[in-house]
Amino acid sequence: YEPLEHGYKELTFPPGRDGNFPMEPNALHIWPRGQFMLIALPNLNKTFTCTLFFPMEGPLSFKTVVESEDVIKLFENQFPDALGMMPGVEEEYLSNPIGKLGTVFCDPWHVGSQALLLGDAAHAVVPFFGQGMNASFQDCSLLRKLIDKHSGDWAVIFSEFSRIHVKNGHSIAKMAIENYLEMRDHVNDPTYRKRRKLELKMERMFPGEFIPRYSMVSFHQIPYSEVYTRGEKQLKIIEAMLEKFDDISEIDEIAIQDYLQIPTD
Ligand SMILES: Cc1cc2nc3c(=O)[nH]c(=O)nc-3n(C[C@H](O)[C@H](O)[C@H](O)COP(=O)(O)OP(=O)(O)OC[C@H]3O[C@@H](n4cnc5c(N)ncnc54)[C@H](O)[C@@H]3O)c2cc1C
Repeated sequence: YEPLEHGYKELTFPPGRDGNFPMEPNALHIWPRGQFMLIALPNLNKTFTCTLFFPMEGPLSFKTVVESEDVIKLFENQFPDALGMMPGVEEEYLSNPIGKLGTVFCDPWHVGSQALLLGDAAHAVVPFFGQGMNASFQDCSLLRKLIDKHSGDWAVIFSEFSRIHVKNGHSIAKMAIENYLEMRDHVNDPTYRKRRKLELKMERMFPGEFIPRYSMVSFHQIPYSEVYTRGEKQLKIIEAMLEKFDDISEIDEIAIQDYLQIPTD
């Protein structure tokens, strides 16, 4: 088990004065602040659940932000626009628990024909890719296939499950940790933004050949371990392109085709 050294606290944005969502509901809102971040996700009742991901210890952390005035100071300094939408922030902050975050790296996930771990018990991940539950559903789907394939031979089913799938659990675990850095820090970085822009351009031009890592994880059923390997290769290509071209608009279809080594016919 690897603790993240950061925890989280859930807070709320109630509906606005008109009874409606206080912000655009069809979006993931992020306040990236380098070492920590606040995010907000909409609920059906027009509220937002707002989560503060924050260091457990250190000069600005759950250890130091403990009194009402610390909470107000934190939000005034770091999230002044959010503070206006959080009338109960002091009370909620002081009474809601601090959630712990960490990753379970376990291998194998079975013991003979007797027991198999699924879901968070096998691969609890930090929540920054929104894939913990999806990964658990994937376990069920693979297990179902293996039960059919090996007609109830549990020793074979379980060992094949571990052999095929542990690497996928470890890959999403690593990607989820990487995504925390991306969300809380890199989204503000101009080079990162340029990379994302180029990725989207490449996906639009060659959707069969190039899929950004986030899309592979969120919108496709590509195994996480394959996503990880493809993502690393793609990153190298993108970095090489950004080294050569200063301006993304100069990168045309032929250049992309060349970098992706797509045969011309
Ligand atoms: C802040 C946060 C945000 C998340 N966001 C997302 C997201 O956006 N998308 C996503 O896909 N996933 C997300 N997840 C992850 C998701 O919640 C988990 O991956 C998922 O709930 C795992 O399901 P599970 O059945 O394996 O475990 P759990 O949901 O933890 O279920 C285990 C159950 O076992 C019970 N239990 C424990 N010990 C015992 C015992 N000894 N006897 C009997 N019962 C016991 C527990 O009470 C619990 O009900 C998030 C997690 C967190 C913490």
